[in-house]
Amino acid sequence: MVQEYEVIIIGGGPAGLSAGIFVARQKASCLLISKDLGGQMNLIPKLENYPGTMMSSGPLLAKTLESQFLSFSGEMIYDTVVMIEETEAGMKVKTSRSEYIGKSIVLAPGKVPNNLGVENESVLSNKGIHYCTKCDAPFYQGRVTATVGVGGYLLESGILLSRMASKVYLIYKGGTLGGDKDMIASIEKKENVQLIPQSSIKAISGTNNLQSITVVDNSGKETTLQVDGLFIEMGSKINLDFVKHLVKINQKGEIEISEGGKTIHPAIFAAGDATSIPYKQIIAACAGGANAGLSAFNYVERLKGRPGIRADWKKTMGDTVFHY
Ligand SMILES: Cc1cc2nc3c(=O)[nH]c(=O)nc-3n(C[C@H](O)[C@H](O)[C@H](O)COP(=O)(O)OP(=O)(O)OC[C@H]3O[C@@H](n4cnc5c(N)ncnc54)[C@H](O)[C@@H]3O)c2cc1C
Repeated sequence: MVQEYEVIIIGGGPAGLSAGIFVARQKASCLLISKDLGGQMNLIPKLENYPGTMMSSGPLLAKTLESQFLSFSGEMIYDTVVMIEETEAGMKVKTSRSEYIGKSIVLAPGKVPNNLGVENESVLSNKGIHYCTKCDAPFYQGRVTATVGVGGYLLESGILLSRMASKVYLIYKGGTLGGDKDMIASIEKKENVQLIPQSSIKAISGTNNLQSITVVDNSGKETTLQVDGLFIEMGSKINLDFVKHLVKINQKGEIEISEGGKTIHPAIFAAGDATSIPYKQIIAACAGGANAGLSAFNYVERLKGRPGIRADWKKTMGDTVFHY
């Protein structure tokens, strides 16, 4: 028999776990399905910008959120969702091993950063190699860095690093920089930024930490640069194949959401990096997860003919329910 839940959440990163906490705490039956615990938080050994914690790590925060979710009787399974289908009984969630029915769904599948595919890259990840400049640039105050990537990601990375690092090598394949003209003009004026066009990274070296990178240009000439940090800004992958027939996907490949994590499907809500929010950070994913979780709970309550919970707890005059 197919197990049924009031809310099924897809994704065990900060968005999915936060949604789970808010749903399970309302005593709704809630299943969280995820490939892993923590998602991108597993790539953050030192977490400095999550409010309320002075010194934490991504995996530690993931474990804490998981414990909090389980303490409210939320259920979690490790599996991959391969398809969601609409049925008369509710939304059918097919995983690689099983099937479940949810009255409502919260999508929080996040994203995965693209890598360079160069030897030593994964070994030196977080030991000098980084995939999120806005997250990790502050660790490189006064140090020598390089950034490699594409378009706007590369420009943003170069500008952020130039404010912190003593030197920034900006490495790109084309002959000219692509992207926003004002950002290009700003980069070209920076004295601590050295442009390295028509080039790519051939090798990454270091024993315990990154020590140098070897850059090769279009003519085949190789140059070794001593750097403390390398930022890889090649964009990221969001895989929504399992749900793309049910929600609206924007040009960036993200799920379009509106207030409360609403999608165009009345039973499906979404949060976190896989959605159209501007700032892809943990605190934003947690907040989005809380919104989407409460919206999913309210949707299920309304199916039962109940009013749901108020959007604003303190409102006393002319109380309004946040309807979906
Ligand atoms: C290197 C790096 C450093 C970062 N540093 C910081 C930082 O210092 N501070 C900060 O605030 N933010 C940081 N971020 C950004 C932050 O990690 C993300 O904004 C946040 O993790 C997004 O949360 P999420 O829950 O939306 O997605 P994710 O964290 O990506 O989690 C998505 C989850 O969904 C699961 N999933 C995906 N598809 C399926 C499927 N089909 N079936 C089942 N499960 C699925 C994944 O396995 C994963 O568990 C960093 C990101 C990176 C890459």
